[in-house]
Amino acid sequence: MIKTDVLILGGGLAGLSTAYHLNKNSGLSALIVEKEKYPGGAASSIFRKGFTFDFTGHLLHLHDPYGKKLIQDLLKGNLREIKRSSWIYSHEVLTRYPFQANTYGLPDSVIDECLLGFLKTVHRPTKTARKTTQVSFKDWALRTFGDGICKHFLFPYNEKLWQRKLSTMTTEWQGRFVPAPKVSEVLYGALMDQTKAFGYNASFVYPRQGGIQSLPNALSQRLKKNQLLLSSEAIWINLKTKEALVKNLGIVSFKRLVNTVPLTDFISLCKETPARVLSAAENLSSNSVYCLNLGVSGNLMPGKHWIYFPEKKYPFYRVGFYNQFASSNAPAGSSSLYVEFSRDSKTKVRLSHMESLALKALRDCKILRSDNRVIIKEWLPIKCGYVVYDFKRTKALNTLFPFLAKNEVESIGRYGAWKYSFMEEAIMDGKKCAEKLALC
Ligand SMILES: Cc1cc2nc3c(=O)[nH]c(=O)nc-3n(C[C@H](O)[C@H](O)[C@H](O)COP(=O)(O)OP(=O)(O)OC[C@H]3O[C@@H](n4cnc5c(N)ncnc54)[C@H](O)[C@@H]3O)c2cc1C
Repeated sequence: MIKTDVLILGGGLAGLSTAYHLNKNSGLSALIVEKEKYPGGAASSIFRKGFTFDFTGHLLHLHDPYGKKLIQDLLKGNLREIKRSSWIYSHEVLTRYPFQANTYGLPDSVIDECLLGFLKTVHRPTKTARKTTQVSFKDWALRTFGDGICKHFLFPYNEKLWQRKLSTMTTEWQGRFVPAPKVSEVLYGALMDQTKAFGYNASFVYPRQGGIQSLPNALSQRLKKNQLLLSSEAIWINLKTKEALVKNLGIVSFKRLVNTVPLTDFISLCKETPARVLSAAENLSSNSVYCLNLGVSGNLMPGKHWIYFPEKKYPFYRVGFYNQFASSNAPAGSSSLYVEFSRDSKTKVRLSHMESLALKALRDCKILRSDNRVIIKEWLPIKCGYVVYDFKRTKALNTLFPFLAKNEVESIGRYGAWKYSFMEEAIMDGKKCAEKLALC
């Protein structure tokens, strides 16, 4: 039987960072078990016929001084800083992101609806919600931006992305993800092409070579020999005996457990889980992202990083261009792009059908032209893509986290902690977790 002080489930950024920081700051032994053949989880890349594809766009937003320094050190000489160029395609025109600050270029009637609706929100005092009532994302968006902006972008786009009624979602997630421009900026952006950048990702960094995979690879290289075990899926966990059955390894005995696997999956791996915990986990929901990666001849949409598609006639919610982040992501004279679809995680999908819809729609909006040849197509499904912040989530987590704490499980990262977060935060989660374990 293998024995370790700390068993880490998952070799994504959160798991890798936990082991790295445990090695640095504690005398504890740590072992990562990762079910795939490669490290990185959602921050991985695949390499096909000279094209590099990530699991849709993975751009680094560095906000924490420690996280920034560590990532810059890990990817020394291999990072490029890029000013975002993101767009929205609707009413057959491209307008700048974010929609609410950039309606210039849309048909006059659409601009009128957006501005009038927005100005009404400015002149109407916001109703204070009763303390016991949580405002839904739908009501918040209407109150903040008005009915025109909601009708033409915020509602259709978010319904496509989240795959559920926006009245069932809370506002807990949107703070940094939905920019709220000033009145003057909304007006200015309706009258002329406003180049001012808004939002948390106005600029980002990305590896010059090797796709986003170069980040988990660099972190893996800082681990001890045989500390990261690939093709090693956790099959079950017994929290009482502190043992796990791991594919290709057998039983692993541990003192402390760190989970980075999606929380819902983790709970189903645990033996003899109380019914109230199982039913709390059933109340958590997520969407699945299906990423169609394409390698195409020709230089598509030069200078554009990604485009949002709010309208129903386009089956995807976003299309982006990896080769605009790093030219090494596609052979010279060609483009590598990602086409993102979202479905509720319980929905069955037919990828062949989605693929034909995608190719037709890409031609309809003229991203693909008749002289562009599709060289390679590859689907990358992300089963747990975005955690849904609905009204059941907080209540469920208030049952699940005390259960995990009682059983000495740290559940971290984007999916372990069941949150909407980024790569730098996954690395920071691992650091904080290691520091906590070192003190135990
Ligand atoms: C569509 C999309 C776009 C994104 N874009 C960005 C972006 O632009 N910028 C950004 O900073 N972040 C982005 N993110 C978020 C980023 O991918 C995550 O925050 C980060 O990669 C999460 O790392 P993690 O270690 O917490 O989870 P994961 O990467 O999911 O790691 C968990 C690991 O557990 C493994 N695993 C699962 N089950 C088992 C098992 N039973 N046994 C062993 N191993 C198991 C998985 O294979 C995986 O490797 C995006 C995410 C998505 C889905």
